[in-house]
Amino acid sequence: MKTENTVWHQHQVSKEERSAQKSQKPCLLWFTGLSGSGKSTIANAVDAKLVARNQHTYLLDGDNVRHGLNGDLGFSDDDRIENIRRISEVSKLMVDAGLIVSTAFISPFSSDRAMARDKLEAGEFIEVFIDTPIDICEQRDPKGLYKMARSGEIKNFTGIDSAYDVPEKPELHIETANNDIEQCADLIIQYLVAHGYLEK
Ligand code: ADP
Repeated sequence: MKTENTVWHQHQVSKEERSAQKSQKPCLLWFTGLSGSGKSTIANAVDAKLVARNQHTYLLDGDNVRHGLNGDLGFSDDDRIENIRRISEVSKLMVDAGLIVSTAFISPFSSDRAMARDKLEAGEFIEVFIDTPIDICEQRDPKGLYKMARSGEIKNFTGIDSAYDVPEKPELHIETANNDIEQCADLIIQYLVAHGYLEK
C-alpha cells in the first residue's frame, strides 16, 4: 500500500546534532557471511567494546528480528527481499538517531546488500565481510543447521544449495580462521577510529 498523501516532516533536531551529543559519527556495520561464520559473535563483541567506550549503539540480529518485526516473513525470495528491506529501513532510522548500528544477517545476495547501502548516505554503510571457509563453518555448526541441510531437512541453505555472493569491495574483510574473536572485533574498532567514526 502506498502512502501518497503523507509528507516527510523535517525534524527540528538534525542528525548532526544527535551525533555530536553522542561524540560519534553514526553508521551501519553490515555484517555478512555464511551461517556459522561468526557474524553474531563478532557483532556482539564489537557492540560490547563500543558500549564499554561509552558509545551509543544498537545491534539487530537475524533470529531476533524474525521473532518480532519480521515474524510474518518466511524464506521465499520475496520474503527474503522484504526482510532485508525492513532491516535496512529500521537501521536507517537508527543511524538518523545518531547510533552506531550493527546488523548480523547472512544477506547472501549482493543486490540486497546494494539496496541497503543505497538507502544510506555516503560513508554511513560499512560492509563487514566475515570470511570463514565453509568447512570451518560446518565444523562449528553452532545451531546444527549444516547437519540438517546435508541431510535434506533444510532446503535452500546458503553455501550448500543456495548461493552466497562474495562481497567484491567490502569496507572490512575479516578472516576468522586467522584471528580469534577478540582480534576480529579489535580490527573493526580500529577501522572505526581510523575513519573518524569514533574519537581516538
Ligand atoms: P553466524 O552469526 O555467522 O551464524 P555465530 O556467531 O552464531 O555465526 O557462530 C559462530 C561460532 O563460531 C560461535 O560458536 C563462535 O564461538 C565460533 N568461533 C570460533 N572462532 C571464531 C572467530 N574467530 N570469530 C567468530 N566466531 C568464532
